[in-house]
Amino acid sequence: MGIDGITVSPGYAYERAPDQAHFLSRRRTKELFREIFKRQNGSRWSFNQSSLFLDFLAGNQTYHCTPWGNPTRNYFGWQRPCYLLGEGYTRTFKELMEETDWDSYGTGNYEKCAQCMVHSGYEATAVVDSVHNPLKAAMISLRGVRTTGAMAPEIPLDRQRPAEYVFSRHVEEAMARLKSRLR
Ligand code: SF4
Repeated sequence: MGIDGITVSPGYAYERAPDQAHFLSRRRTKELFREIFKRQNGSRWSFNQSSLFLDFLAGNQTYHCTPWGNPTRNYFGWQRPCYLLGEGYTRTFKELMEETDWDSYGTGNYEKCAQCMVHSGYEATAVVDSVHNPLKAAMISLRGVRTTGAMAPEIPLDRQRPAEYVFSRHVEEAMARLKSRLR
């Protein structure tokens, strides 16, 4: 049907990653994607992602995270703020959207988000940018992602709030709620 395609997302040392030592920083991620995209050698690979997200991975866009762009629902409820970070659960999607302090998450806002470039937060930002700037997105689709030259400015980390290690407590609370319902 012609719908085959590749989906990519850079890993990083998120809180629950068992190996914290071998993930890449944002800078190394961008350099790696530039090297990958250079290897297309004229035969353009088919990605199932927006051209601007790929451009972001190559360091050509300064994007802020949109954590609600790919919301996570699991056994405990709606997970805030995203599937990589578990900092609480809500019973309904409405509660998730209305009661989460979204501005306290994302690169530059929160220490745990400092090295993140994953699709769950940044693809949504790229798609919104594509809607507002269709010509820019179309030009990258036609010409390919730029793999040389200066990168877009990085988000400063000097005002991010420190990490809070709350995952285990929230899971324990969610487990207790589930158990009480089963009794
Ligand atoms: S930057 Fe966004 S997607 Fe990444 S961990 Fe933080 S909230 Fe989640």
